[in-house]
Amino acid sequence: MMDIKKNYQSVCNRIKQAEKACQRQGKVELLAVSKTKPIELIEALVAEGQTRFGENYVQEALTKIAQHPELEWHFIGPIQSNKTRPIAENFAWIHSIDRLKVAQRLNDQRPSSMTPINILLEINISQEASKAGFAPNEALTVAQQISQLPNLKLRGLMCIPQLSHDPQQQTKPFEAMQTLFQQLKEQLPEENIDTLSMGMSGDLEAAIAAGSTCVRIGTDLFGARN
Ligand SMILES: *Cc1c(COP(=O)(O)O)cnc(C)c1O
Repeated sequence: MMDIKKNYQSVCNRIKQAEKACQRQGKVELLAVSKTKPIELIEALVAEGQTRFGENYVQEALTKIAQHPELEWHFIGPIQSNKTRPIAENFAWIHSIDRLKVAQRLNDQRPSSMTPINILLEINISQEASKAGFAPNEALTVAQQISQLPNLKLRGLMCIPQLSHDPQQQTKPFEAMQTLFQQLKEQLPEENIDTLSMGMSGDLEAAIAAGSTCVRIGTDLFGARN
């Protein structure tokens, strides 16, 4: 079971320290990103009290969800428009909505027996050609349209900024996300816009300082992926 318990304590401590440094105690949730990792490691974290897990690959995720339907599963990977149905039917949250068409399909395919699926719009905040996500300047228009879809519940925004190991460089895109998040809240006061998903193993401190409410941590919990 390697050092998973130690890793968990260390990540939780980093989050606590980062919250404290900006007076945001208790504001940040941990999403454990378990892609490519076996169910035993997920179970080891559950034993420590973790209940939210993020997955990127549909088939892999379905196997895990079938074993632990009681956990809260978040889809955070790229979405192919012909594979929306199992996502609509099996997840509580989606962080990676990057096209209006995908949102419409998910809305149509979410079973009416389930509560609306919580969604975040992925923003290509560093405007990289290689990355998915809405451009920052189209986000508010799209959010308006998506907020009309009854089986989706728009909760906020997500980003994966350009990789940088320099904390100062890391801060800029996170602050731009925070600005957009505030604009979104003002634009849709009736919606429960409360989630800003940003920060990973290498930049969670910068993300929390800029107002992240959910950090997505894989490597520093489960070890490196192949
Ligand atoms: C893999 C992944 C993560 C976790 O990244 P780490 O650097 O391993 O913590 C977070 N978010 C998304 C969208 C990912 O695909």
